[in-house]
Amino acid sequence: MLRRFQNYIDGVFEDGSASFESVNPASGASWAIMPAASEADVDRAIRAAHRAFSAPSWADLTASQRGKLLYKLADLVEQQAPRLAELETADTGKIIRETHSQISYVAEYYRYYAGLADKIQGAHLPADKADMEVYLRREPIGVVAGIVPWNSQLFLSAVKIGPALAAGCTIVIKASEEGPAPLLEFARLVHEAGFPPGVVNIITGFGADCGRALTSHPLVSRIAFTGGPETARHIVRNSAENLAYTTLELGGKSPVLVFDDVDVDSVANAIVAGIFAATGQSCVAGSRLLVQRGVRDRLLEKLVAKAKGIRIGNPQDEATEMGPLATKRQLEHINNVVARSIKAGATVLTGGQQPDGFGAGFYYQPTILSCPDHQVPSVMEELFGPVLSVVTFDTETEAIALANSTEYGLASGVFTRDLTRAHRLIRALRAGIVWVNTYRAVSPMVPFGGYKQSGLGREGGMESVLDYTRTKSVWIRTSDEPIQDPFVMR
Ligand code: NAD
Repeated sequence: MLRRFQNYIDGVFEDGSASFESVNPASGASWAIMPAASEADVDRAIRAAHRAFSAPSWADLTASQRGKLLYKLADLVEQQAPRLAELETADTGKIIRETHSQISYVAEYYRYYAGLADKIQGAHLPADKADMEVYLRREPIGVVAGIVPWNSQLFLSAVKIGPALAAGCTIVIKASEEGPAPLLEFARLVHEAGFPPGVVNIITGFGADCGRALTSHPLVSRIAFTGGPETARHIVRNSAENLAYTTLELGGKSPVLVFDDVDVDSVANAIVAGIFAATGQSCVAGSRLLVQRGVRDRLLEKLVAKAKGIRIGNPQDEATEMGPLATKRQLEHINNVVARSIKAGATVLTGGQQPDGFGAGFYYQPTILSCPDHQVPSVMEELFGPVLSVVTFDTETEAIALANSTEYGLASGVFTRDLTRAHRLIRALRAGIVWVNTYRAVSPMVPFGGYKQSGLGREGGMESVLDYTRTKSVWIRTSDEPIQDPFVMR
C-alpha cells in the first residue's frame, strides 16, 4: 500500500490533476503517491491566493494578529517535528538526526518572523515643501510564488512563507517533485493553525508545467526561488510575463581555506561536517578544500581516517551518520563527475564509488579527491554529493585567487589563528557568507544568500521581511489656500 499525499489549495486538501510515485532513496522502491499540479491547478491556487490577499479575513487582521497565527504555526511545527522528520527522511534519504534537528529549528524561524510582523514600519519624510505632510506606508507586495528544491524543503519554505505572511502577503508554494512529502504534510499544520483559506497554498508538480505556470502567472507579484542556476534562468525568463520582484537562492562550490597555523583535529571535524553532512547535498557544502602545503599531509591523513569511519546506513536509524543520495539522477551525476575528474588528473584518496551491501539504494561513499589544479571538473562544478576536492596552495594571494575562481559565491570558510589574515580574507572573498574557524552555522536573524551565480537577494534577517513589502508615498497638502497656477509643478 503506497501512502497518498495531497495538494492544499484554498483551504482544501485535494488530489492533483495527475499523480506520480515517490521513491524512497534508501531502498530505491516507490513508497508514496504524490499529486502533480497541472497548469489549471496552479491557476486555481493563485486565484485563491489573490482573493485571500484582499479578503477581510486576512487583509483586515492587525499585524499582531498575523504574528499570533505564525506563533501558533511555530508551536505546531515544534510538536510535529518528529513526524515531519520521519517523512522527510523517508522521501529524501536525509538522516533522521539531521531532519529532526533541522525541523525543530524551523519552528524558531517561524517565531522570528512572527515577532517581526508588527515591526514593519513606514516613515515620516522631511520633504522640501512647507505645506505638505509626506509619509511612507509599507504594504504587502501581493501574491507570492515560492519554489523550493528537494533538500531541506521545510527550512527553505520557512524563509519564504514566514516573511511573506508576516508582511501580509499570501503565497502559493511549490514543493519539489522530489521528496515533497514533508512540505505537503506541513500544509495540515497551516490548516490547523487557522490561516484563512487561500492565504497559504501548498502544491507539488513538475518544473516545466507547474513551476513555469506558477512563476509566469500574471497575478503573481513576487517570486522567491531556491534551486539550481539553470532553473533560475528559466524563472527569470518566466517572470518577464508578470515582472514580479524576484529573489534567487542558487548553488555553490564553497571553498574552505585552511592555513598552516590551525589545530588539525578541530579543523578536520569542521570540514567533515561541511561536506559529509546531508550526504553533501547542501547548497553551502564546503566542497573545495584549499589547504596550505605545510599542513596538507597531516590534515588529509585525519580527513581520510574520519571519512572511512563514517557510519553509512538506514537513514531512519539514529546511529547512521550518512544516508543515501536523494535520487538516482544525483547518483549518476556524481559518478559521472568523479570519473571525469579522475581522467583530468584527480587521485582518489578514499571512496569514489558506491558502497557494497545497500541493494538498489542510492548510496555513495564519502569521497576525497586530491586535485592537481582548479581545472579538474569536481573542483569547478557543483556535485551536490559527498565529494571533497582538495587543492594545495602556498601563499595567501594564491589561496584567495583559487577561492574566487569559480562562477559561484555562496559561502566560504577560513581556518587560521592569525586574526589580521582572517580580516584580509573576509574582505577578499567573493561570497555571501564567510565563516571563520567554524562552518555551516545558520540563524533566522542572519541574512543568507550568494554572490555571482549563487543568487540574487537575501533570505533571513530583518530586511528579508521588507522584501515582501512595497512602499507607497503619501502626500497630504495642509494649506487651506486655493491651489494657484495649475501649470507649475509644486
Ligand atoms: P532545481 O533547480 O532542479 O529545482 C528546483 C525547483 O525548481 C524544483 O521545485 C523544480 O520543480 C523547479 N523547476 C524546475 N524547472 C522549472 C521551471 N522551468 N520553472 C519553474 N520551476 C522549475 O534544483 P534541485 O536539483 O531540486 O536542487 C538542487 C539545487 O538547489 C542545487 O544547485 C543547490 O545548490 C540549490 N540550493 C540552493 C540553496 C540556497 O539557499 N542557495 C539551498 C538549497 C539548494
